[in-house]
Amino acid sequence: MKLKRVLPFAKELLKTAAKPGDIVIDATIGNGHDTVYLAEIVGPTGHVFGYDIQAEAITNTTQLLKENGVENQVTLFHKSHSQIGETIPSHYHGQIAGAMFNLGYLPGGNKEIVTKAESTITAIEQLLTILKREGVMVLVIYHGHDEGKKERDAILNYVKTLDQKKAHVLQYQFLNQKNDPPFIIAIEKR
Ligand code: SAM
Repeated sequence: MKLKRVLPFAKELLKTAAKPGDIVIDATIGNGHDTVYLAEIVGPTGHVFGYDIQAEAITNTTQLLKENGVENQVTLFHKSHSQIGETIPSHYHGQIAGAMFNLGYLPGGNKEIVTKAESTITAIEQLLTILKREGVMVLVIYHGHDEGKKERDAILNYVKTLDQKKAHVLQYQFLNQKNDPPFIIAIEKR
């Protein structure tokens, strides 16, 4: 298959946006796979700030970061991504090169604990302020579960209202796959 699948495409977008030395955000660290990926992009001279509301995610990600030798270039917050604005040091505001949202529930964890539209949209709003110009946030949206459908609809309604002079908004989605496959919304600050 030549067309990029959803997760590889999300990762490619982040690699285009962020370079060694940059500051980036993993808004939903989960088991830490995306956090490690981002830490490897920005390298020891850059930094990743990561968020999750579950202690299990912080534990799993801390371990994976150590196994990959990248723990010194990452700060984890056991907090909601709706607190991004108040937790990212103010001298980095306007400097953030990229952000990843891998929405839904923790793989292997409690499927009742899922990302919700209200906090996701609050985080997007804050990121639109603190991203640098040409900074990119990538949202992978899982809409197979009921809460995911609500989150999908709310996010799509919200991003369609963003002023095109302020942000480019992209949707990347396979339209003929069965069972509500995940899709991407990417937002580049102008
Ligand atoms: N990126 C992860 C990885 O590579 O393993 C997968 C993330 S998982 C699909 C979604 C995560 O979002 C869960 O761990 C969940 O606890 C977390 N989450 C739910 N609501 C959140 C919120 N308001 N702020 C931050 N994380 C949240």
